[in-house]
Amino acid sequence: MPELPEVEIVRRGLQLHITGRTIDSVQLLHPRVVRRHLPGPDDFAAAIRGRVITGARRRGKYLWLPVGEDAVLAHLGMSGQLLVGDPARPLSAHVRARFTFRDAGPDLRFTDQRTFGHLAIAPGGAVLPAAISHIAPDPLEPDFDLTALTARIRARRTGIKRALLDQSLVSGIGNIYADEALWHARLHWARPSETLTRGEVARLLAAVQQVFSDALDAGGTSFDSLYVNVNGQSGYFERSLAVYGRAGQPCRRCGSVIRRDAFMNRSSFSCPKCQPRPRRARW
Ligand SMILES: [Zn+2]
Repeated sequence: MPELPEVEIVRRGLQLHITGRTIDSVQLLHPRVVRRHLPGPDDFAAAIRGRVITGARRRGKYLWLPVGEDAVLAHLGMSGQLLVGDPARPLSAHVRARFTFRDAGPDLRFTDQRTFGHLAIAPGGAVLPAAISHIAPDPLEPDFDLTALTARIRARRTGIKRALLDQSLVSGIGNIYADEALWHARLHWARPSETLTRGEVARLLAAVQQVFSDALDAGGTSFDSLYVNVNGQSGYFERSLAVYGRAGQPCRRCGSVIRRDAFMNRSSFSCPKCQPRPRRARW
């Protein structure tokens, strides 16, 4: 799954390459891509023909392109890509939707191998589409409220990593960046969230922001070739990962052997010395 930095990198590419351009046509090569647009594919295509894209916005892992007061809402799912390029290049088998522009410049293609991603029109959704208004602000948004989030995390009765992954508390943090931030903040993933001090939560959220910011600088993390920017290039942040995927290797801070624990059908990676297991654990 792409996480927030990877989606933010796609947003920046869209902002740069398609803002201010008028949509000429939309070809839907696989109707499943607009399955959440209930009036159907023809309505989708007709509704955005001739509209001007005025920017590219994001909340959590959702992206939207404002067109007038409405928006085109996109979610990349497991394997979706939004690619901008020469309109004459061949269409790959995984292209689900293709947007062309009146200026005959680079086109925009939504490709998706596993078809979990989707596109929809959000009426009146230019500022924030109603379908995603329940999603909490993420740590890269300017109006992210650190004090309020600290209080909400400490009021939970759950493990701290589970709280970080809870999209109704804070959006956009997935398994990789949760493990990285917990290592930077020297906190074990199973610490009961109500036992964290305000200072510990502040340290953890600062670590989340730092890890995201470092990942953005590196162009994101690419565990397979699917997570790419709008030009099809992958990032290299995985070289900087401190714990995620490093079981059995030495901690970059203290040299102890990184451990892997089973967690919610996935894994948690941590350092036994920097992140001591709490006497009472929750997960
Ligand atoms: Zn360590």
